Amino acid sequence: MTARIYVAYTGGTFGMKPSAGGFVPDRGLAQALQARLPAPGQDGMPHWELHEYAQPIDSAEAQPRDWHTVAADIAARYDAYDGFVVIHGTDTMAYTASALSFALAGLRKPVIVTGAQIPLAMPRSDAPANLAGALLIAAQHPLPEVGLYFGGKLLRGNRATKVSTADFEAFDSPNHPPLGRVGIDIEIDRQRVLPMPAREAFELVAPTAREVLLLRLHPGLTVALLERVLAPTVAGLVLQSYGAGNGPVGLPGFVATLAAASARGVVIVNVSQCARGRVEPSLYATGSALAAAGVVGGHDMTVEAALTRLYHLLSLGLAADEVRRRLQQPCCGEFTSPQAEEATA
Ligand code: ASP
Repeated sequence: MTARIYVAYTGGTFGMKPSAGGFVPDRGLAQALQARLPAPGQDGMPHWELHEYAQPIDSAEAQPRDWHTVAADIAARYDAYDGFVVIHGTDTMAYTASALSFALAGLRKPVIVTGAQIPLAMPRSDAPANLAGALLIAAQHPLPEVGLYFGGKLLRGNRATKVSTADFEAFDSPNHPPLGRVGIDIEIDRQRVLPMPAREAFELVAPTAREVLLLRLHPGLTVALLERVLAPTVAGLVLQSYGAGNGPVGLPGFVATLAAASARGVVIVNVSQCARGRVEPSLYATGSALAAAGVVGGHDMTVEAALTRLYHLLSLGLAADEVRRRLQQPCCGEFTSPQAEEATA
C-alpha cells in the first residue's frame, strides 16, 4: 500500500520569492511544486498532501508558539497519516526539529523536517531534491523519530545544527553520526535509529511566558552584566561554557551569582561552545565549581536541544528540581549519557 504523508509548509527559503527588500515567504507552494516533482502517488512517490500555513514565515521569526503549532498540527493528524514532513526555513530549523522531538516524545512514525538553501522558483534550487528525499524517507522507513533531512544527509533532529549559510550540505550533527544518507539509494543506518517505543508519550504543551536565556561566556563578561541578564523573571538559562564545561570561576562573584540564581529556582544548563565533545563538570576545577553552584551538566547536547528542552520542561510547569532531574534523563536521543558512552567504548 502506498504510504500517506502529511506535508506542513511553514515557510522558509524553500517557497520564497524575491522582493525589493530581499527574499520573502510566499504562498501557492502546491502549484509551484506541481511543475518540479512527480504528482503524489506517481513515479514511486508516496501519496502526499501539502498543507500551507496561513502565514508562511521566515524562520528567523519563529517563536516557541510556532514549535507548538507544528507539534499540535502533527499530533492532530497523527492517526490519519503514515509519516510527516515539515518544510521549514533553515535558520531555526534545528530549534524546531529539537522542540518537535520533545513535544512528540515516544513518536512511532517518521517526522522529517527539511527546507532549501535556494528557493524552488530559482534555477539550481535544492528544494525539489530535499523534499523528494524527505518524502521517500518518511514513506519507506519506519523511523520512530524526528529527523532533519538536508543535502543528502538524514540527521537526528535534536542533534542537528546549521553549519553553513551557503553549502547545500547546510546541517551537521557533530556529536552523533548521520542516521542515513541519500545518494542513488536511500541508506538508513538502523543501528543509529532510536528503538521503536511501545507507545507514544506526547507532551503537547503551549509555551508559557517563562523566560529562557542563552548566554555564551566570553572573556570580558562581568559579574555586573551577568547579574543584569539574570533578571528576576528569568526561569532558565543555557550557559554556553568553554571547552569541557569551564567558566571564569576565579572572577569574584561569578560563581556566587550563578549559585544565587539556582537557589531562587533558575534552572541553569551547561553546554559547550565546542561543536564536538561534551561537558565534563568534574574534569577541571573551573567546571566543578559551576556544578557546585547548581548548574546542570548538559552532556553533549546542542545549544538548540538544550534551549528547546528547557522551554519544554518549564512550560510543563514543573518545579525547578524536577526540571533539573528530567534534564539528566535523555528524552529521545538528544544526548549521549556517560554510561552509554562507557558501554560502547
Ligand atoms: N531565512 C530563511 C529562513 O530560515 C533561511 C532559509 O530558509 O534557508 O526562513
